[in-house]
Amino acid sequence: MIIITFMLKLTVQRQAILDLINASNRHWDADEVARALADSGGSVGIATVYRGLAALESQGFIDSIQLADKKRYERADKAHHDHMICTRCGHIEEFSHETIEELQQVAASERGFKLTGHQLVMFGFCSRCAKELDR
Ligand SMILES: [Zn+2]
Ligand SMILES: [Zn+2]
Repeated sequence: MIIITFMLKLTVQRQAILDLINASNRHWDADEVARALADSGGSVGIATVYRGLAALESQGFIDSIQLADKKRYERADKAHHDHMICTRCGHIEEFSHETIEELQQVAASERGFKLTGHQLVMFGFCSRCAKELDR
C-alpha cells in the first residue's frame, strides 16, 4: 500500500509538471519548474523534478534542448523548430529555416548518414541586446 501511494504521488507530480509545460510556450529549466510548482502550492523537490522531466522526455511527452550549461524543456506538440539563444539576456528565439533544414539533409546523405532528427542551437545576442551593445 505504501508503494502504491508513493507511485500515485509520483504520477500526480509528473502530471503537474506536464500540465505546467503544456500551458505555455516557454522553455523551462528544472529550477524554474520547481519554483512554479512551489508558487502554485504543490511543493516538489528538485530531485523529483529532474527525474520527472527526464521520464516525461523519454516517454515523448515533452521535448528538450541542450544548452551549454543546462537542459531546457518545452511542449512536444509544436512543429519542428530550432533555437537562437541570447547569451546576454537569456531570450530564446524559435525559428525554422527551409534552407538550413535541407542542407542538413544534404550533409547527412553525403556521409551516408541516415538522419533521424537534429537540434540546432545558435548563440549570440538578440536584436534588443545587439542594439544596446551597439550604443
Ligand atoms: Zn538579449
Ligand atoms: Zn522551442
